[in-house]
Amino acid sequence: MSDNPLAELTKNVLVCEACHLKDSRTKIVPGIYGPVNGLCIIGEAPGYYEDQQGIPFVGRSGKLLDKMLESIGLKRGEDVSILNVIKCRPTTDDGKNRTPTESELRFCGERWLFKQLKILAPKLVVSIGSISLKFFIPSATVTKYVGEAYDTDFGVKLFVTYHPAYILRNYNLLELYEDHFKKLKDIYDEVPSAEGIKSQKNKILGLHSEQKSLTDFFG
Ligand code: SF4
Repeated sequence: MSDNPLAELTKNVLVCEACHLKDSRTKIVPGIYGPVNGLCIIGEAPGYYEDQQGIPFVGRSGKLLDKMLESIGLKRGEDVSILNVIKCRPTTDDGKNRTPTESELRFCGERWLFKQLKILAPKLVVSIGSISLKFFIPSATVTKYVGEAYDTDFGVKLFVTYHPAYILRNYNLLELYEDHFKKLKDIYDEVPSAEGIKSQKNKILGLHSEQKSLTDFFG
């Protein structure tokens, strides 16, 4: 077992060629790590700028996310991990960003994100946007679940909020977005740090059969 399992894992992510998305990427975006037992924000996949720089959430969306974190006294990398479910940018035939398919999401997420989460053992995971929410709770929609935290089958709390790009397009929601960050910070502060990710068989929301691998992985 390596002294630094996260560094070891990241080395493997950075050379991954396990799916066709290797052909559309410029750089793999493994994510930015905060502390173990910390807060973990999870988006869907890299876009154009992330792909160019190999860093998650850059550009206007990244700036808004950083501003929201700053408003609750947290900083990416220092206090917060920022990851995507998919590590390589999905593109259309003409090279534009596209929404990942469910199978792409599941394939990369089960290969790498679960392993990152196992090591990071976050006190609270925040899904931003509908795609990362669906990865954790396939039947969920942001409209119905937004602004609340849910216990999941794999023993970690999940808070649901919007993607910063959505707020940039719907600026009237900025105040609500700020409230979400205040609320998630309160929840984060209340979760006992030792909890982390452990297999908890009693489910509150009930994950679906297709998520069995998640339970198996952490079990
Ligand atoms: S998307 Fe994920 S599984 Fe596919 S090549 Fe990139 S890192 Fe590997």
